[in-house]
Amino acid sequence: MRRKLVVGNWKMNGSRATNASLLQGIVDGLNGASAACAVCAPAPYLAQCADTLKGSPVSWGAQDVSAHAGGAYTGEVAASMLADFGCTYVIVGHSERRAYHAESSELVAQKAVAAIDAGMTPIVCVGETLAEREAGQTAVVVRNQLGRVLERLDADGMAKIVVAYEPVWAIGTGKTATPEMAQEVHAQLRKQMLEKNAVAADKVQILYGGSMKPDNAKELMAQPDIDGGLIGGAALKAADFLAIIHAAA
Ligand code: 13P
Repeated sequence: MRRKLVVGNWKMNGSRATNASLLQGIVDGLNGASAACAVCAPAPYLAQCADTLKGSPVSWGAQDVSAHAGGAYTGEVAASMLADFGCTYVIVGHSERRAYHAESSELVAQKAVAAIDAGMTPIVCVGETLAEREAGQTAVVVRNQLGRVLERLDADGMAKIVVAYEPVWAIGTGKTATPEMAQEVHAQLRKQMLEKNAVAADKVQILYGGSMKPDNAKELMAQPDIDGGLIGGAALKAADFLAIIHAAA
């Protein structure tokens, strides 16, 4: 059985003061929750996460990583630097980076490999836009996005990723995919990985993201291939984030 995983993507939010109370609130409210959990903070706050969360059951990670190992890449952060601050996870290919920073699936694949090589778990985001869904393209779009990553990995590498299905039209909109809609895509993503290696595919956690909230989390995560959530807005309030973690049986 795959353990459920709930990850907060803080996006470009927070300050030292608000992070301190949010992190403490999460740690204090975990109460032996069965799901694993993590927060993905803006890079300047990773040291704060490391200081506050070290020794707690909460892991931390980053929201992006350079595809390059190091050198003359102004503004970039290398995977080895994230690992140096104790990051377990790094989100790659979030739709906001694909849309606002023109990240291609090829670049996302390179970033996923960089993360694995540094000993971290990349959370590989895939998802269709509203226009793509309405055109019946969802299956093709997410298959191509995940496929670019899988073609760079062997079975061992594939077992080291987390996949997040985030329909773009559901992100920050309050519109959530129904559990059935999400499960259909998750099952398809699992099948795509099964074609490569059944044992590894069975291990990979596939998270749902897109307006997951305390009131819809349980139903979504009850689906057989929904192994947790990647949470935006609701991860910024300790009470909401904790409610989602506790909804993951
Ligand atoms: P919301 O939960 O705010 O819709 O954001 C989802 C998301 O983009 C997580 O990566």
